Amino acid sequence: MSVVRTRYAPSPTGYIHIGNLRSALYEYLIARVNGGKFILRIEDTDQERLVEDAVDVIYRTLKICGLKHDEGPDIGGPYGPYIQSLRKDLYLPYAEELVRKGHAYYCFCSKERLEALQNQYKERGEVFRYDRHCLGLPEEEVRRRLEAGEPYVIRQKMPTEGTTTFHDVVYGEISVENSELEDQILIKSDGYPTYNFANVIDDHLMKITHVVRGSEYLSSTPKYNLLYEAFGWEIPTYVHLPLIVKPDGSKISKRKGDATFEDLLAEGYLVEAIINYLALLGWSPDSNQEIFSLSELEKIFSIERISKSPSVFDMAKLRWFNGEYIRAMSVEDFHEIALPWIKKSLEKDLPTLPIARMIQPRTEVLSEIPGKLGFFNRLEDYDLEIYTHKKMKTDPEVSLRSLKAAVPVLESLPEWNEKSIYDALMALVEELQIKSGQMFWPVRIAVSGQLVTPGGAVEIAEVLGRKETLRRINIGIERLSAVV
Ligand code: GLU
Repeated sequence: MSVVRTRYAPSPTGYIHIGNLRSALYEYLIARVNGGKFILRIEDTDQERLVEDAVDVIYRTLKICGLKHDEGPDIGGPYGPYIQSLRKDLYLPYAEELVRKGHAYYCFCSKERLEALQNQYKERGEVFRYDRHCLGLPEEEVRRRLEAGEPYVIRQKMPTEGTTTFHDVVYGEISVENSELEDQILIKSDGYPTYNFANVIDDHLMKITHVVRGSEYLSSTPKYNLLYEAFGWEIPTYVHLPLIVKPDGSKISKRKGDATFEDLLAEGYLVEAIINYLALLGWSPDSNQEIFSLSELEKIFSIERISKSPSVFDMAKLRWFNGEYIRAMSVEDFHEIALPWIKKSLEKDLPTLPIARMIQPRTEVLSEIPGKLGFFNRLEDYDLEIYTHKKMKTDPEVSLRSLKAAVPVLESLPEWNEKSIYDALMALVEELQIKSGQMFWPVRIAVSGQLVTPGGAVEIAEVLGRKETLRRINIGIERLSAVV
């Protein structure tokens, strides 16, 4: 069997839709798992939709995701160029060949005529379909109009009878009535091919064996199939991927504010977690394992286990994956990625490594960090009731006693670090014959002023430093003294 060749064929729109990135991932994995080649092709034939820098977004995304391509515009390869606009001139001869073979025809219909036609369909409540006005034009007339330089498009001539059947690895056998297929445009009046034409020509010329793409292309595939047949070319293996939907069943769309890949990164999702999550969005392994690195996926991914039912993109699940990846990191690595977020949250110079250590087990997404660290900047007024905790057996009275006892001990500590603070407070717990919670709960409340904190009393005290810790404990003492 020939070498497996897959391609990622994005249109440069300026951002990477989550579904698009999943296509890239599956295309990459199918190539890797079969020892094949993964090709990048830029589909920019829609010149009206071009966005500046959009191609760079594509390169950057593939790079940071580790989806290394074997051929592409930036690295070349035997079937280049890999940018469709640079291949512009090669499509027309193929369309002309189809005209000669009777599978396509020239169409000179003006924009005005087509618009009027569209309106008629609309009024009748029907879906617009080109009425084949130019199908029967005498050859002579066609030649004359072409020579006169009249603008034209080339349309595919669909059979009017029979059915077209194709096989998709995921969706099985699919048949459509040929009478339902529109005579789609292959070459536009600006001379560019449509996506519908270029993808077939390029997949053939680039020897793509597996066409992997979103299921939104399933309905167009019969038309592509007819093109392959008209040329007498081998039909690739089709692998259409299930739709990605939101938990309410609706489609994901950037216009509706749904996150693109870049948005997720900016929110503090890790590339590895996103890739892991996307791998499972439409594919499942034959075990219960959920955490996969890219290199593991490269070994075990299988087309057979791609599902055809819509995959639900669940932010809560992605958060869970992200949390798992964060917890699996070394403190140093986490500190490095969390640092910009920590710095952004702090108004004063505090040691960031202990903060990272404190928040790592409790962080799922980096963007949560600022919301957790505000109390380091200033002690807000808090309700004294939070000193009362049933399970810890604390109330304002117990708390006042513990805080008062803690002050001299903390004042005289020779060193200020997590261990020394902890040991000192534990010694005090024993000396006073109280429960440890009766010491640590009040201290935590006093130093943070909050019921919920990203770390315990000792961790917070270490970060705040001795002076600020004692200042806050003394505020607690003063306020409690007024009520006890
Ligand atoms: N350019 C198309 C897109 O971005 C590619 C579809 C395909 O993979 O054939 O959706």
